[in-house]
Formats: sequence, C-alpha cells, structure tokens
Amino acid sequence: MTLSHFQMCIGGQWVDALSGKTFESLNPATAEPWALLPDADDSDVERAVQAAQQAFEGHDWKSLTATARGKLLRRLGDLIAQNKEKLAQLESRDNGKLIRETRGQVNYLPEFFHYTAGLADKIEGGTLPLDKTDMFGYTVLEPLGVVAAIIPWNSPLYLTAIKLAPALAAGNTMVIKPSEHASATLLELARLALEAGIPAGVVNVITGYGASTGAALTRHPLVRKIAFTGGAATARHVVRSSAENFAKLSLELGGKSPNIIFADADIDSAVNGAVAGIYAASGQSCVSGSRLLVQDEIYDQFVERLVARAQRIRIGNPQDDSSEMGPMATAQQLAIVEGLVADALAEGATLRMGGKRPEIEGNGWYYQPTLFECDSNSMKIMQEEVFGPVASVIRFKDEAEALAIANDSLFGLAAGIWTRDLGRAHRLARDVRSGIIWVNTYRAVSAMAPIGGFKNSGYGRESGIDSVLAYTEQKTVWINLSQEPMADPFVMR
Ligand code: NAD
Repeated sequence: MTLSHFQMCIGGQWVDALSGKTFESLNPATAEPWALLPDADDSDVERAVQAAQQAFEGHDWKSLTATARGKLLRRLGDLIAQNKEKLAQLESRDNGKLIRETRGQVNYLPEFFHYTAGLADKIEGGTLPLDKTDMFGYTVLEPLGVVAAIIPWNSPLYLTAIKLAPALAAGNTMVIKPSEHASATLLELARLALEAGIPAGVVNVITGYGASTGAALTRHPLVRKIAFTGGAATARHVVRSSAENFAKLSLELGGKSPNIIFADADIDSAVNGAVAGIYAASGQSCVSGSRLLVQDEIYDQFVERLVARAQRIRIGNPQDDSSEMGPMATAQQLAIVEGLVADALAEGATLRMGGKRPEIEGNGWYYQPTLFECDSNSMKIMQEEVFGPVASVIRFKDEAEALAIANDSLFGLAAGIWTRDLGRAHRLARDVRSGIIWVNTYRAVSAMAPIGGFKNSGYGRESGIDSVLAYTEQKTVWINLSQEPMADPFVMR
C-alpha cells in the first residue's frame, strides 16, 4: 500500500524534518500504516518557534486590527465548513473515530471560529478610578506571544480549535504539536489557515513524538503559554518544562466522571445517556461517564436494560456509516484497557458484559463494550481512568450517598445527573466537585460553554466568553497629569 506523505507547516512553508527522518501513522481499523510524517527534532522546533515569534513581531499580523483578525477567523471557519467531508474522513482514518462522530464534530467546528471571531474586538482593558488626583491610569490586554498547543489523539480538530481560535483572536501566534498517532487533520487545518489569509508563521504545525518534539517545544524560552490536553503523567512533564521559563499553562486532563441515575429519572433516556457517556467514541473521551451510580430501587432493572442496549451496539469499521463503535486509537491504548480489565477481575469486580476483544475480521484494535459491577468505590476500576469502553457500576441508597461516591475521586472533569426532581438537580449541580455538570443529558458541547476540570482533571478553562482572556496579559499604564516637577525621588508615589 502506498503511504500518504505529509509535510509540516513552518512559517507558511511546507517542509520535511531537517534530519529527513519520518515516522508512520497507523490506521486503527486495520493496524496498517497509511501515512508518513516528518519526525521533528530540536532544530525543527527551533525554526517553528522562531517563525511564530517573527510572525508575532512582524507587520503583517501586528498591524491587523482586532476586527480584521476576527474576519480572518470567520473565513477560516467558512473554509472548514467547505472542507468538512474531507476533514471528517481524514480524522476518522487517522484516529479510528466513527465517521458519524467526526462528521458531527467537523460540522460544528466552524462555530468555534465564528463565535470567537466575534470576541476578537471585544477584548477590552479599563480605566482605573485611581486614588491620586494627579494621575490617570488604564489597563490594556495584550497578547502573550508564541503559544504552544499540545494535542492528544482522540479529537485533534476540536481540541485544537478551542485553543487556536481564542489565541489568534487575542493576537498571539501558535506552534501546534499534534499527537504522533493523529497528526493529519491539523496539517490540513494549517493549510486552510493560510488559504484564509492568516499570515505565514501565525499558525505552525510540527509533527513528532512527545518525549522529543513535544518536550523541546514546551521548554523553549520563547514559548509564553502552553495549552495542553492529554494525560496526567504527560502533564507533569509539561508543568516541569513550563517552570523553566515560567510559561503560562492550561491543562485539560482526564477524568473518572460519575453518571448518577436516580430512581425518578426517565430510564430510557438515562440508559441512552449511560451509553453516550461510556461507549460512544469507544470510551476514548476525557468526559467519559465511566462511573455509573444507580439508585437501589432501579439498579437491577437499569443494569439489565443497559446491558441489553450495549450488546446491540454495532462494532465495526469506523468509516462505515452504520458502525456505532470503532476501534481503540492505538495498540498501546488497547493494551492499557486489557490491563485494567485484568486488574478489575483480580480485585473481585463482577464482569457483567464484554471484557475481551470482539471477533472481527482483520487486525484492528477493537474492544467489546464492557461493564463491571462493583461494591466499593475504592476499587481501582472505580478510581482509574481507562480511556476505553469500560464502565463500572455501583449502587447507592440516597442523595447523600450518591454525592459522597461522586466526589470520592481524584478527578473532577464532568458529571451527569438523571432525575426529575428539580431541587435535587440543583443541589447536586452545586455540590458535585466537577467542572461540567450535565442534568438529564451527557456529552453536550458548545462554543459558548467553558470546559475544564477540578482537581486532577486540570486547570484553566477553554471555550466560552472568557477563553480569549486566557491568551492575554494585562498591562497597567500610569500617566502623570501634574504640571509640578517630580518631588522627592526616595518615596513611593
Ligand atoms: P498523552 O498525554 O499521551 O499525549 C498528549 C500529547 O502530549 C501528545 O501530543 C504527545 O505527543 C504529547 N507529549 C507526550 N509526552 C510529552 C512531553 N514529555 N512533553 C511534551 N509533550 C508530550 O495523551 P493521549 O494518550 O494522546 O490522550 C489521552 C489522554 O488525554 C487521556 O488521559 C485523556 O483523558 C486526556 N484528554 C483530556 C481531554 C480534556 O479536554 N480534558 C480531552 C481529550 C483527552
């Protein structure tokens, strides 16, 4: 099979790695290589960051008004809409996500650019009511400079859009490092950014491995902010790198999100919500509802209905429209899932469904929808992120117990609450320690809605009206209005 050969985008040019080295990207549905990508080393990182810095300081970008930057973002959103089928196909092939899901994500992607385009010229400082009559003071919000975006493999376009759009709206430039497992669509995004008229060097994409390319980028002294999405172990490296140069940081990490089902819920909806929470995207979603908390009275009925629905899930080629669950994105991820399932069996969790690879032709990295029944929230399978189609279910008596179990986690990214009791919905929305709460729904996203985590799920928020502020720095300006000469230089004014 001939491999598609990709190049990186640095300073508006399409280039190979200076070393000439490449690596292969595999198609998760076949485990076969399909693409060849440049393996960027320190010297490539250096030229990408320098290109971004030059673009940041250069006339073409700096001289644009905020309104003009907004118009470019709008055009980029429009170009994404025009290229949506190509992008959806490419992402599905690269990371094994269902074509119906990549289509859904890419269809919505322009909204992130259109929404943020409207924010570009609403980034305002303020005048200060100073307590000094001879002084006038104001603040300005300025861009930071070069931003590094470190992206995981599960939703490259979406997770880049929520970083790139606000960073550009605020006047920054960016170097994007996709996951070594799914780089192709971000190179295509760079091509569309150039086509939209965004000046060369404002959006750069370099490909390569985390420990080499990613590490070199995150410790580069010209990088003023790192916007990271990925796992906790990698995040610890990135935090250490950021300490070298005190780069600002946002971290979107993993979760072990509780999906809490009360006896008064609409059970059909809750079953679909549980499936959406854990088996959609084969569980490879940071917001997976991987802990199901079900009230005693409906526990048996709920588990039976969930198993019946999950066993009908059509597992198959992600590029086939009728498939409902595709493969794991990488062989390593499949091995992690298998390891955690073995640990759950060893610690005594009851396997209710799945627990192995399905019988499917070919070598794709598929795994069955899996459900464990657990009698304690302290079991490893109730505490550790699997990032695969593995749910664990536990019963609770009342609201207080549900809340205690929900909050008994190192993570705090998302939570689902299924109930018809309005007061209870609001009480739990207040008391559950998570960055996102969904009531009688799950996995809803919007350009207007901030996402981000509490506790080990990270810090900083993306999307929403404040997202652009996270890419700015505040400057305070003092103007002396007095006509008197400056007096005593040894006292604070
Ligand atoms: P990962 O942490 O292995 O990799 C993420 C990115 O970091 C990749 O581009 C990788 O090359 C890079 N990287 C690796 N080592 C690095 C280093 N030393 N320095 C700099 N960069 C480095 O994550 P993954 O396996 O690609 O994705 C799965 C994880 O991402 C899960 O834990 C999941 O929960 C999390 N995730 C979180 C969100 C969210 O929004 N909260 C969304 C998607 C995924």
